Amino acid sequence: MRIDVLTLFPEMFEGPLRASLLGRAIQDGKLDVAVTDIRDFATDKHRTVDDAPFGGGAGMVMKCEPLFAAVESLRGANSIDRIVLLSPKGRRLTQAALRELAQAPDAVLICGRYEGVDERVRDALCTDEISIGDYVLSGGELAALVIIEAVSRLISGVIGDWDSVTTDSFYDGILGPPQYTRPAVFRGMGVPAVLREGNHAAIRRFRRKEALRVTRARRPDLLSACSEEDLDLLAELEREGSESEREKEA
Ligand code: SAM
Repeated sequence: MRIDVLTLFPEMFEGPLRASLLGRAIQDGKLDVAVTDIRDFATDKHRTVDDAPFGGGAGMVMKCEPLFAAVESLRGANSIDRIVLLSPKGRRLTQAALRELAQAPDAVLICGRYEGVDERVRDALCTDEISIGDYVLSGGELAALVIIEAVSRLISGVIGDWDSVTTDSFYDGILGPPQYTRPAVFRGMGVPAVLREGNHAAIRRFRRKEALRVTRARRPDLLSACSEEDLDLLAELEREGSESEREKEA
């Protein structure tokens, strides 16, 4: 997959695109990321990219011309699969949206600054408007990095063991199970015995049940599309809950 980022602050990408799994994926050519300075597409000698809002009001707005020129310079706007405007007003980012984005052969991420981007960029140029959450950042750069890092995990070969992706929270809709590592006892706190007994079927069932337990407690809204097995495990959790209630009362 190829991702082009349009930004006024290319330097914000230097460290994150070099580090860890993402850095390795880019180095190995599994993901191609290019960062372009929007200012390179300004046409006046001051390299102006923003102007005061029509109708008055605070701050500045990013102008159409440099953004249209920047996108059109990238292989012609029609051949780019997804052109994403990062914006707090966009569709909230989810794992499902990332999986969809990771299928695209190429995408452009447009990072806004100031009061945002002239609405005509969104209307005439972008295929998507994405928000990474209900809060306001000073610019779209960190949002773009969130998307790049999360998409990279879904590209074949980036994460060595695909199982670690498929057991992640949200991969199949629910939160992931709790994890433990050595030592087996730390400050009197143990590890569930089933994880140390080597019975893989029992471990798989235990993890699924614990994933459902944590999802039920923290994000019950995610439990809407459960399999038969999940429904059985949820019923089991329900029964255990009522038993422990009865024990407390006794
Ligand atoms: N005035 C805008 C509004 O109220 O919607 C906010 C502009 S914000 C200060 C500047 C830029 O940061 C936006 O154009 C966008 O690119 C980026 N940004 C801010 N919050 C974001 C979020 N939650 N998700 C994605 N991008 C965000």
